[in-house]
Amino acid sequence: MFIGSLNEPVTNLTGVGKAAASSYAALGVRTFSDLLELTPRAYEDRSTMIRIGEQGEDNLVNTFVTVKSQTFFGAKRILKVIVTDTAVPGGGRNLSLLCFNRNFLKDVLRPGRSFYLYATVGTSFGELQSSQFEVIPFRADMPPAEFGRILPVYPLSGTLGQKTIRRDVNAVLSRVKCFDDELPRSIMEKYRLMSFDSAIRQIHNPDSMALQAKARRTLAFGEIFYLQLAARRRNTTGTARGETSACDLERRLIASLPFCLTRDQEKALEEIRSDMGSDSRMNRLLQGDVGCGKTLVAWIAALHAIDRGGQVAFMAPTELLARQHARNAALLLEKLGVRIAFLTGSVNASRRKPLLEALRKGEIDIIIGTHALFSKSVEFSDLSLIIIDEQHRFGVQQRLSLMEKGTMPDILMMTATPIPRTLALTVFGDLNVSTITTMPPGRLPVKTRLVGPDRRGEMYNSIGVEFRRGHQAYFVYPRIEGEPDTDIRDVVTMYDYLKQVYPGVTSELIHSRLDEETKVRILNDFAAGKISYLVSTSVVEVGIDVGNATCMVIEHAERFGLAALHQLRGRVGRSSLQSWCFLVFSENLTDDAKARLKVMKETNDGFVIAEKDLEIRGPGEITGNAQSGFFRLKYGNLVSDLPMIEAARTDADAILATDPGLISAENAVIRRYLGTAGVPS
Ligand code: ADP
Ligand code: MG
Repeated sequence: MFIGSLNEPVTNLTGVGKAAASSYAALGVRTFSDLLELTPRAYEDRSTMIRIGEQGEDNLVNTFVTVKSQTFFGAKRILKVIVTDTAVPGGGRNLSLLCFNRNFLKDVLRPGRSFYLYATVGTSFGELQSSQFEVIPFRADMPPAEFGRILPVYPLSGTLGQKTIRRDVNAVLSRVKCFDDELPRSIMEKYRLMSFDSAIRQIHNPDSMALQAKARRTLAFGEIFYLQLAARRRNTTGTARGETSACDLERRLIASLPFCLTRDQEKALEEIRSDMGSDSRMNRLLQGDVGCGKTLVAWIAALHAIDRGGQVAFMAPTELLARQHARNAALLLEKLGVRIAFLTGSVNASRRKPLLEALRKGEIDIIIGTHALFSKSVEFSDLSLIIIDEQHRFGVQQRLSLMEKGTMPDILMMTATPIPRTLALTVFGDLNVSTITTMPPGRLPVKTRLVGPDRRGEMYNSIGVEFRRGHQAYFVYPRIEGEPDTDIRDVVTMYDYLKQVYPGVTSELIHSRLDEETKVRILNDFAAGKISYLVSTSVVEVGIDVGNATCMVIEHAERFGLAALHQLRGRVGRSSLQSWCFLVFSENLTDDAKARLKVMKETNDGFVIAEKDLEIRGPGEITGNAQSGFFRLKYGNLVSDLPMIEAARTDADAILATDPGLISAENAVIRRYLGTAGVPS
């Protein structure tokens, strides 16, 4: 029996009714296995006795006491019980238990009775007091389960209390005589893991914190190992496709550019071609700061695929960006005879049908669109490369569903918000990364200014100077329209306000509620220099490419995450002009907000920003809602377990290299585990 194979619902446990079941569901617990996998968030060490007066820095006492007397104090007549430590022969020090909202304890804490006491104490008016305490009637013949042990502290929800969860977890544990190990013996020995049976018991009821740590390491290793194995296994079959040098189409495109590729672009292309020519499916992340030339690399990679007779799907996160890419593709590639199509949810049925037909017949080489590209009705003749722009916006689910199209298409993902290495390794196991660190020559780093509430005037002045030089600007606000009772600045209000600040300077407002055509028209006008500044929400966040725009103003910058701030800042500094980013903040910043702004002020490096983001927010949040569930490990920690993640990856590789079918006796456990977990093989 594996820890994860107990499918009985928690309601089969005595004492778990509807209310408890729904509270459990809120914690993601439905089955017995889920309950076992509900990892304690902390532990209370009640294994050693700490007498009253001997408490350390944590102010905890853990002892036996006898009640001396009861009194009531204050206008509300709150019960106060004086107890004395009886773990000390002849009696120890006194402690006052203040029973706020617990006056019912007067019938329990009767003078003369003895109790186990676990309490947080403090000194007030010269006496030791506690208002946070737990008492259990003392019985010398049968110490209570909560005494003399390390107790798990679980995350709570709804009606659940610690006692209930502890009872239920232990009920499940007692039903299984022995859980099976989940890893081959060689690995268990190599990393000195404990048996999985001990591990799951020790994680809930540790005999010592050292054993708890070993238990966690064991369970985390299993978890991470299978993530790696599943990811790597999906990608190691296939056939070689040959040729790795640039083809004719590629050379013609490169020759037509008014500039040379940067060294990093060349290198990324070599890596991509080599992946495309190898036996396994390419699964590559192309990362590099906004404007470093990733998209161009992607088009060249597309030509490589087309030259080999395949089709390419290029997926952008929004319709707006898909359109921009389609326009650029047309400019760059149509002259080479490449057949390009555009498909998003808004393409109507009469145009859609022939388009899908042509795609199916192989008469389209590149199709550019949003995730509509991966709906069921879209069929390819030979899809060989999928390019995903700004991949952090796509959930893992979407990623898996698009891999179903075609026979093992290569995948190239582009991102300017690099995934920290830990996350990339853990979740994508098999992901290879190409990095572009050099910017095209002549680019100046964007200067970032933090603007407090009193410096707004100065900021408007310096942007006015840029307008007089013929340059352009973006003003970004968190909201489209004002809401009563807030002083959050919004697009609509500020659009009017800025007209007064900059009389005679052309502007437009743009936000998600405008229809697609209007947005496209406004952005085209902005790109053509017909509009001097845009007042917008974060719709300008990704991908807009206007080299003449030199100012980015982000108001209420404290409300934006680091990834969004970095993306927004990346809209400027896209030519040889000096650009500025103004981060306008409000008063009363939280510590996290301060930390974010400080990072933005100090660095332009997207990699540093991504790592800081992970530090400040923690891995659970970093990847957005769609993926956070997937990224949340039960036992492992994406930051502190990096060495373990790398070790597990190496082992998974070694096992697949020597025993790809997992047929050896040693690996039987892996085969059995994959079978029960339903991991696709
Ligand atoms: P990214 O996708 O990384 O944001 P793009 O590929 O959109 O970057 O490139 C940004 C701008 O830089 C585009 O206008 C592009 O034509 C230009 N560009 C790309 N590579 C180079 C290069 N090697 N030298 C000069 N300009 C380049
Ligand atoms: Mg881009």
